[in-house]
Amino acid sequence: MNMIDYERLATIFLDKYDLAIHADGPTLECPPWCDGNHIHGRHYEVSVMDKKEKRDTFTFDFWESERDCQNNDRPNNYTVLSMILSTMRAEPFDANEAILKSIQDFSKRAKKFFTEEELENLKNIASN
Ligand SMILES: [Zn+2]
Repeated sequence: MNMIDYERLATIFLDKYDLAIHADGPTLECPPWCDGNHIHGRHYEVSVMDKKEKRDTFTFDFWESERDCQNNDRPNNYTVLSMILSTMRAEPFDANEAILKSIQDFSKRAKKFFTEEELENLKNIASN
């Protein structure tokens, strides 16, 4: 599959569950893991919202890849959903306590926002 197919699947997923993704930004804020070499793109404040307002909006910091920054691509549905899944699966081996805590907090908030069915389906579209 190419990027267009992934984005299409991501959009089908969001439509199915009445969800929408918005990205505010960018800003030039650095992520907590930045070591001064700035191996990251720009910062956005991303919100996943329930269009029927049946649950609170899930808002979090998002850093695009360097490549997306160079191409001037804003976060799309697929890049956001795959970031959510990869962060929930992250097992950092050399992260400090603050970074570990922020990953755990993020996963907790994601599990609270998404239903189990949604998380299962998310794995199918954003598993690469
Ligand atoms: Zn930086």
